[in-house]
Amino acid sequence: MFKLREFFKRHILWVGLSVVAVPLLILLGLQYRYLSALEWSLPGARKDLMRSYLSEVASKIEEYYRTSADRVLNVPPSAFAVARTDERSLSEAAAHFEKNQFKAARRLFVGLSGEYESGGSYVLVLFYDPAGEQTFHREAGSRDWSAAHAAIASWMIYNLTNTTPDSTDLTVDERDPNVRVITKPILDEKNSMVVGVAGMIVDQAFFQETLLPGMIEESLPAHFPEDYQETVVNLRDSEGKLLPEGRQARILNDEAAVPLQFVFSDWRVGMGMLHMTEKQWARRLFAFNLSLSLLMTALLIGGIAMALRSASREMKLSQMKADFVSNVSHELRTPLASIRVFGEFLRLGRVKEPEKIREYGEYIETESRRLTQLINNILDFSKIESGHKTYQFEEADVEDVVLETLRAFKVRLDQCGFNIVFESPGRPLPSAVIDADAIAQAFTNLLDNAVKYSGSSSEIAVRLEEKDGYIIISVTDHGIGIPREEREKIFDKFYRVSTGLVHDVKGSGLGLAIVKHIVEAHRGKMIVEGKQNAGSTFTIHLPAGPDAKSGSHEEETQPADEKDASLGLNTVPSDN
Ligand code: ADP
Repeated sequence: MFKLREFFKRHILWVGLSVVAVPLLILLGLQYRYLSALEWSLPGARKDLMRSYLSEVASKIEEYYRTSADRVLNVPPSAFAVARTDERSLSEAAAHFEKNQFKAARRLFVGLSGEYESGGSYVLVLFYDPAGEQTFHREAGSRDWSAAHAAIASWMIYNLTNTTPDSTDLTVDERDPNVRVITKPILDEKNSMVVGVAGMIVDQAFFQETLLPGMIEESLPAHFPEDYQETVVNLRDSEGKLLPEGRQARILNDEAAVPLQFVFSDWRVGMGMLHMTEKQWARRLFAFNLSLSLLMTALLIGGIAMALRSASREMKLSQMKADFVSNVSHELRTPLASIRVFGEFLRLGRVKEPEKIREYGEYIETESRRLTQLINNILDFSKIESGHKTYQFEEADVEDVVLETLRAFKVRLDQCGFNIVFESPGRPLPSAVIDADAIAQAFTNLLDNAVKYSGSSSEIAVRLEEKDGYIIISVTDHGIGIPREEREKIFDKFYRVSTGLVHDVKGSGLGLAIVKHIVEAHRGKMIVEGKQNAGSTFTIHLPAGPDAKSGSHEEETQPADEKDASLGLNTVPSDN
């Protein structure tokens, strides 16, 4: 149980991500399937929707013509009683047409029969023309006249033979596609005989330019609220040719089409999408929805990963802080205990030989230096964290700082049996603008680490050189090395490599974080190289210069060899 909890704690990021990502990915998969099914069925469903819309439009057109024509053509039969003898006295029919005007009719007319004085009957078509000389006039020979005659013929036969028709519904004659005629038989109220016919010639232009576009404009947005602007309704003739009508946009192929009823029965209304087919539209919808889902999933996983990452970092940091407290307590206790013991020996006068007294004194000095270094690190770290760390930059000789630090560190090195090999270029280096104390501290931290993590090796190489405008200080040990994946992390605060030998070495985890801060404050860079179990090299690059002052630098600087000699270090001239 405890192991399981530890596992979750350690791998909170991956555990948390899998807990969220797995159901999300399953959901995404399900959505993909659902969207694919939708993509497949959507064009069919849309076509059905279009078809039902077009049928509705066709029914509305039929209803419009039927009800209006029935009203307009409902001429009172009494009008024809007079008309039989005198065509000019159709005033009752004229009054009726006057009262029931109908925009969809290009012309209104009546059909009636009469008898020649000489014997025999005739059938007459009289066109209604309120503005003309005569309200009703003949128009023998015109195309309208022929169509009207043909249309009333079937009714007039009942009139001439004095028989009663079985049905008295409105009829449409579309034999001439340019002159479509609607007729209504007018029946005698008493014995239901056909006394005459009222008719109209349908106004094709009104239908195409006003009636149909008006109906579409009114009903389309309600049926296709999201994409009615993309939706096109076409009117086509019997051969499928596009007919002009009010809406401008046109497409070549209709996705769905329905024939018109009653009038214009050889025409059909069709529709489709302006810029794409239904299939393409469904594909786009599919792609859009899927990308939206992918984006949301990615955002969700990303957000959760970030939250988990920071949670896991917080957990690691708090663990590191806890380790830090225990490590620092240990780091403080050990030198303090040594100082107390050696101090007691000296106070009690148990040690008499001057050599021993000097040796104990050195121990006390070294231990207090270590303490000072540790406390400096902690104080500096707290300043860095609170943003109060300041640097006193001055032009200085980096070599001086390095040699001075090595001198101060020498006692510790000797005590631990370490041998330092110092390599210098053998010529004066340019000065640099640095905070000498800070650089000394950074260098000390590197030396301290080299000692701590050298394992069984006891040789450390310090190299000083100038390259590409940088003064380079490198510290090489032949110790436990650093795994490649840890190289970036070791510069994080409190971070300590938690494997292998490092467990046995105490430390605060602050040394390298401070080194990095110091080097970056000098606009320099820090590089770490080496292999695991084969030692490591930490290199500080400090910008050299300023050039203007480097001239006087040579005069002020002691030759490197002399300084090395005075330190008693093993020096090797470097290659460059
Ligand atoms: P510490 O007080 O633990 O030494 P540092 O910040 O100085 O803290 O170093 C961080 C970690 O980097 C160390 O705990 C160690 O794991 C690794 N490290 C630092 N210097 C060396 C080195 N010379 N050789 C191997 N590992 C090193």
